[in-house]
This record gives sequence, C-alpha cells and structure tokens, in this order.
Amino acid sequence: MTPEQCVPLLAECEALAAVAREVRSSPCWALMAAFPQRLAVDFDAAFVEGSPLAWIARNASKPGRADAECWVAHASTEWSQAHLEDQAEAIAAALLQALARVTNASSIEPVYAAAHRWRLARVLSPRREQCLWDGDARVGVCGDWLVESRIEGAYASGVALAGRVLASARDWRLPARAETAMPAQGELFESPQDTG
Ligand SMILES: Cc1cc2nc3c(=O)[nH]c(=O)nc-3n(C[C@H](O)[C@H](O)[C@H](O)COP(=O)(O)OP(=O)(O)OC[C@H]3O[C@@H](n4cnc5c(N)ncnc54)[C@H](O)[C@@H]3O)c2cc1C
Repeated sequence: MTPEQCVPLLAECEALAAVAREVRSSPCWALMAAFPQRLAVDFDAAFVEGSPLAWIARNASKPGRADAECWVAHASTEWSQAHLEDQAEAIAAALLQALARVTNASSIEPVYAAAHRWRLARVLSPRREQCLWDGDARVGVCGDWLVESRIEGAYASGVALAGRVLASARDWRLPARAETAMPAQGELFESPQDTG
C-alpha cells in the first residue's frame, strides 16, 4: 500500500497521517516480454543506465517460475514520469527497443509484449523509520515506503512493526476474567413479547 493510500485509513491518527502525507510515490512503466528463444546475455538481471530502462530481469531465473524466456523491464522514474500519459502500446514498443539494445536482441521478435503503468510505484526518499506506531491509539503502519521501495524494505518494516506491537502488548492488561464482562445469553436477545 502506498503512503497516499494509507492517509484515509489513518483518519483517527493525525500524527501518523501527517507522516504519510509528506511522502510522495512516483510512477513506473513496466514491460513484460516473452521471447521464443533464450536471449544471449550472461546475466539474469541488471540495473541499466543511460536508457529509458532502469532495471531488467529474466523472470525464469526467479524461484518457482516457468522456463519460458520472459523478461520484466522497469523504466526509470524520470522516463516514466515524462511518458506517464502515453498509450501503453507506444510504451511497450519503446521499452522493447530499449530492452533489445541492452540485450543485443534486436533480431529476436517477441511472442508477447505488454506495458503496464503503475502510477504509485515507488518512493524516492523513503522515511527510513522502519515503521510508525501510535501507542495510545494502538495503531501502526508498515510498508516498503518507510524503508526502501522493494520487497526487502516491506519485510524489514513489517518485522519492525511486529516488534513494536509485541513490546507494547507486554503493558496491555486484559480483564482478569474476560467472560465476566460478557452479557448472559438471555441478555443478548429480546424475547418477542419485549419488542412491542
Ligand atoms: C511494477 C513493480 C514491480 C516490482 N518488482 C519488484 C521486484 O522484482 N522485486 C522486489 O523486491 N520488489 C518489487 N517491487 C516492489 C514490491 O512489490 C513492493 O516493495 C512490495 O510489494 C511492498 O509491500 P508492502 O507490504 O509495503 O505493500 P503491498 O504489497 O502494496 O501490500 C499492501 C497490502 O494491503 C492490502 N490492502 C490495501 N488496502 C487495504 C485495506 N483497506 N484493508 C486491508 N488491506 C488492504 C493490499 O491488498 C495489499 O495486499 C515492484 C513494484 C512494482 C510497482
């Protein structure tokens, strides 16, 4: 969830909402392309410079994926921002050309290529606070946008928040006998003669 999406959920915790409001997500155009044969590169993933692309990865190299020669390519934030409202077909063609340049695969026709726009994809300046916690309201926030816009950031943030909740829970007091606070069964429902 992006910081923008967190804000309305934090209506009761203004201090946390204010933190989320300060952070802005930036967009990312992503290309998914499948090729009929393996691209002749000796890497499975690369950060790319001097190109519309910022990151490319061979999908089959990830655990549990099919063997098909599929690549995911992320455009840079700057390029994505500049082409935010372009048609997806034009974006796919441009990113495919960029991918072909990086992988020397311009002679290989893809069997599939599609571009997808993520408007709120990544945060350029994460807070690096790991997580947010309001002990009075017992409300916490975790997410990649607090640490780093990738899965490791999301994981670290979730673990940090779990730690805060556990530490705080040591001070929480439950009623000595919770069931005494429950109404007796007869008190839960009105009998028909009581409702008129
Ligand atoms: C195009 C793209 C490609 C990426 N590729 C990679 C990659 O290859 N490797 C990598 O490490 N990272 C990648 N990332 C980043 C990675 O996806 C994120 O860092 C990660 O998913 C963030 O996790 P999160 O838990 O913070 O948020 P999310 O994954 O967004 O999880 C938030 C969850 O909250 C749920 N939710 C939303 N609203 C509510 C609500 N009101 N009530 C209850 N639940 C709600 C959502 O359904 C969702 O399950 C990519 C991101 C993008 C945009």
